[in-house]
Amino acid sequence: MKLDTWLSQRISTRKTAGLYRKLRTMNSAPLTEILIDGQKQIVFSSNNYLALANDPKVIHATEMCLRDFGVGSSGSRLTTGHTDWHQKLEEKIASFKQTEKALLFSSGYLANVGVLSSLPEKGDVILSDQLNHASIIDGCRLSKAKTVVYNHIDMIDLEGKLKESASYQRRFVVTDGVFSMDGTIAPLDQIISLAKRYDAYVIVDDAHATGVLGKNGRGTSEYYGIHPDVVIGTLSKAIGTEGGFVAGSHILIDFLINHARTFIFQTAMPPAICAASYAAFEIIEDSHTKRQQLFSNVKKIKARLKEMGHTVKGDLTPIIPVLIGDSKEAVLFSEKLLENGIYTPAIRPPTVPNGESRIRLTVTSDHSAKEIDYLLDCFQSIGKELNIIK
Ligand code: PMP
Repeated sequence: MKLDTWLSQRISTRKTAGLYRKLRTMNSAPLTEILIDGQKQIVFSSNNYLALANDPKVIHATEMCLRDFGVGSSGSRLTTGHTDWHQKLEEKIASFKQTEKALLFSSGYLANVGVLSSLPEKGDVILSDQLNHASIIDGCRLSKAKTVVYNHIDMIDLEGKLKESASYQRRFVVTDGVFSMDGTIAPLDQIISLAKRYDAYVIVDDAHATGVLGKNGRGTSEYYGIHPDVVIGTLSKAIGTEGGFVAGSHILIDFLINHARTFIFQTAMPPAICAASYAAFEIIEDSHTKRQQLFSNVKKIKARLKEMGHTVKGDLTPIIPVLIGDSKEAVLFSEKLLENGIYTPAIRPPTVPNGESRIRLTVTSDHSAKEIDYLLDCFQSIGKELNIIK
């Protein structure tokens, strides 16, 4: 059989199951209103939670650095890619996260893969939440340690599995801080006390919490007032740029510089993106109003959707999953939203379990009351039309 014949069979299976994925072209910057395939759409699916991707100060910092340092970094960090801006940004992230040091990776994905494939070794065990992000799962797959999955935020299950893991050399618990598809916040206070009791290390992926959770937006550590052993993050969400990082002790960072393959063998982030991220962190440190606006938007949307009878999952985070159930129905819902000028794609298996397809809304500080009211009107009318609500 020709390769293309086999591949088209695979693709048609996805199409029949309502699981086919396709790209949509955005023709403008990621503001709350954007052009998609030439049509104006209000976007409720970006991770630009504090609207920093388009902030004039961030753009200005990028332009200035581009003039001095050019576009690409042209080398890995250990060769010619490590600039003043990488150093400055790492210092800024460490001070923001209140850790001794931080280390940049080219993406949050690569930070997770780099940590999990290097830190836990053969003879160790990784206890991983069932709903952890794909990059954690891939990191675990690359690790020589054994991976054991515990039920989503189920502390009884985690404790049982920690007890059963006594014979392993070292135990690591890894969890998302905020779960990307469910919007739940990991019970990190409980995870950390269990880890203390059973002599385990805690690794948190704070991708969706950085800039958002905690009084100063420092993430889940600040939200709970705790200190995990390893904090991983991305710059691609509330920070509004690109790249990933690990924050922790001096020796942890030294270890990763020497062992994390996704750090050692990757070209360094462009310096201009470091300058942009640095400017974004400066804004975030002073962004109480933006965060307040973000949470007031989240509260309004969640409350109104629940009043309408929609099944809304998750804790108080900018991720608002509205459960639809069937994949095809979720796609239909999303298409109807698109016809009405709202862009928020359906999330389907394998990203979420079978029967739990959903519309995953994400909200930003810059969504206006008018945009939110319009979104809610659409959820009411489409929900009724598709018999999802009464
Ligand atoms: N962790 C989580 C929880 C995420 O949602 C994402 C992005 N989808 C990542 C890691 C990866 O981050 P990046 O986009 O920077 O690779």
